[in-house]
Amino acid sequence: MLTLIDGKFAVGHPIILGIIGGGQLGKMIAMEAKRMFMKVIVLDPSLDCPASGVADIVMEGHFSDPEKIYELSKKVDIVTFEIELANVKALERLEEEGKIVYPSSKVLQIIQNKYRQKKFLRDNKINVPDFEIVENEEQAKRVCKSFEFPVLLKACEDSYDGRGNYLIRSEGEVGQALQFFSGRQCMLEKFVRFRKEISIMIARNPSGCISYFPVVENIHEDHILITTIVPARIDDKVKRKAIDMAVRTVESLESVGIFGIEMFVDDNDEVMINEIAPRPHNSGHYSIEACSISQFEQHLRAILNLPMPKPFLLSDAVMMNILGPHDLAGPYAISGIRGLFSIPGCHLHIYGKLETKPKRKLGHVTVVGSNLDPTSLKYTIEDAIRIELLHQVSKCSN
Ligand code: AMP
Repeated sequence: MLTLIDGKFAVGHPIILGIIGGGQLGKMIAMEAKRMFMKVIVLDPSLDCPASGVADIVMEGHFSDPEKIYELSKKVDIVTFEIELANVKALERLEEEGKIVYPSSKVLQIIQNKYRQKKFLRDNKINVPDFEIVENEEQAKRVCKSFEFPVLLKACEDSYDGRGNYLIRSEGEVGQALQFFSGRQCMLEKFVRFRKEISIMIARNPSGCISYFPVVENIHEDHILITTIVPARIDDKVKRKAIDMAVRTVESLESVGIFGIEMFVDDNDEVMINEIAPRPHNSGHYSIEACSISQFEQHLRAILNLPMPKPFLLSDAVMMNILGPHDLAGPYAISGIRGLFSIPGCHLHIYGKLETKPKRKLGHVTVVGSNLDPTSLKYTIEDAIRIELLHQVSKCSN
C-alpha cells in the first residue's frame, strides 16, 4: 500500500490493480498498467476475454457477483471497473472495509441508472434534454405529446450502444414501445435534432485535480459509435461550453477516475449532456496514438492520485470502429490488413473477441496525420476490411 501513497512504482513490490470486466477497455487499461510494471487481475465471465492476453490473472465470474468481487478485492491494492454493470452494493462493502475503489460506489450508483444520472445533472443545473420517468401508458402518452413526436424511450439500466433505446414516432406506437421494455424501468426523452455529437474525456484524482482531453466529434449509426473525429469541428465558444459542463459534472459528482461525457450540440449552439460513462470511452481511443497521455494512462494516474498534466494533441486523428456485420455470428477472421496498413498513419487494434455478433465492437482503427478527410477514410477503411466467418474462410481457400 505504501507504493500508492508515495507515488512509487516499486518493481520489487508492484501495485496490484483489480479490474472488474476484461473487455477491450479492461484490456487497454491493463496494457498501460503492465507498461508501468503493475500487476493486473481481471474479473470477467470469460477466461478468454480480450484482457486475458495482457492481465496476469483472469478470475472467472460475473461483473455483478458480490462474492467474486470480494474475492478479487482481497488479491489487489486497488479496484476499478471497465463496465457500469459492476455491483454497487459489493463495491460499497469494499469501501466500508477500507479498500480503495475508484470510481466510487456512490458515483457508479448515480451513473448506472440513466434516469438517476440525468436527474443528478438537472439538479446540478447542467443542461440535459427534457426527460420524464415512465409511470404508465396514459402518462407516457401525455409526456410524449408535451415533448412532441418523435420521442426516445430509454431503458434506465443495462442498456448500451443504443440497445436500450426505442424511437416512438406517434401516439399509436407508445403501447408497443412500452411492451418492448416490459418489466424494465424506462424514461422518455425529448428527441434532440442535434447538429453534432461531441464528447470529452475528463479525469479527476482524489486530490480534486481535474484534467480534460480535447473535445472530439462523434458519428453514430443506429445509435452505435462509428467514427470519432479529432479535434471536433466546432467553434471555440461551443468547445468552452462543453468543457465547462464536463468540469462541473465531475466536480458535482466528486468522481475519481476517467469519465467520458457525451453531448449534443443543437442548431442554436446549445450544448446538452446525453450520457456520462464512468470509465474510459470508445470516443477516447484516439488518445493512445494522438495524445501526450492516453485515456487509459490518465485513468491510472487519476486512481493512483498522481499528477495529470493536461493531455495535448500530438496529431489530428480519425478513429473508426470495426463492428461485426449485422448478418454474421460465430468465430471469424478479419481480412484486408494489407489494405489497411497501406493507409499512412494507420494503427490497428483488434480486441481478440472469440466470436463476432451483429454490431459487436471487434476492434478499431486510428489514423493520425494532418488534413485527414474522415469521409474518404471511412470508405477506404470499410473497403479494406472484411469480416468473415471462419468456416467460410476455409471454404474459400479450399
Ligand atoms: P445512448 O445509448 O442513450 O447514449 O444513445 C446512443 C445514441 O442515440 C446517441 O449517441 C445519439 O446518437 C442517439 N440519441 C440518444 N438520445 C437521444 C436524444 N435524446 N435525441 C436524439 N438522439 C439521441
